[in-house]
Amino acid sequence: MNRRIFLKVAIINTAALAVNAAVFPLPRILHAEESSTAGHIVNCGSCQEPRLSITIDDFNSLWVLKRQLLPFLKKHPEVKISAFPIGVNIPYLEEQIPGLWNDLLEAGHEIGYHSMYHADLSRASAEQLRSDLGKFNHTLAAALGDRNFRVRFGRAPYGGYGNGEAFLQVGEEMGVTWLLWSTVPAVMVKTIPLDHLAAISNGDIALFHVTGTDMYWLEKYVQECAKREIEMVSIADLVT
Ligand SMILES: [Zn+2]
Repeated sequence: MNRRIFLKVAIINTAALAVNAAVFPLPRILHAEESSTAGHIVNCGSCQEPRLSITIDDFNSLWVLKRQLLPFLKKHPEVKISAFPIGVNIPYLEEQIPGLWNDLLEAGHEIGYHSMYHADLSRASAEQLRSDLGKFNHTLAAALGDRNFRVRFGRAPYGGYGNGEAFLQVGEEMGVTWLLWSTVPAVMVKTIPLDHLAAISNGDIALFHVTGTDMYWLEKYVQECAKREIEMVSIADLVT
């Protein structure tokens, strides 16, 4: 195993450790070739197809969203992202950029749950998780003007799935498949500055945030995927 692959595996295993720390029965981490199932956790897609997913979390910076991410997506309609905003940011961003969430859906992007306030949910009870997810659905549905809208994917803040029983139960009930990630390109570049882009693999779920640094690496990442003819699809297309 070379250093690059070792680091990549280390990142995946660190996330898996958080999952394995649970006292309760866990949602199963699905094999890459399996279809996603509500309640279970997915950390990558099939490595057989030249496709991967770009996931973007938090949506904390209006400036970066408005000035960098949205213009970039407009310029690259072939890139489909999956957005995991913090719930409390949703109405504010809708107010600042009217039509933002509907426009993302219409352009073929996915929007998923990332908690209302970015609290660590690893010890949340099923009731607390159900309530938070319900509030998130309500908030997003209101911003979209579609009261029937429900998310199909969710990512716990920090990948904290400690109380696996709660995630399994609430995910099954509310039709949500949980996500981890297989690569964090903007972090990897700090440890492997010269050839991190070589770490791109089929089936990757790449994690970015709405920050200036991440947008810089997103651009490089997209260029490299395009060069390798790897399609950048939404998470629903990657894992279902
Ligand atoms: Zn986050």
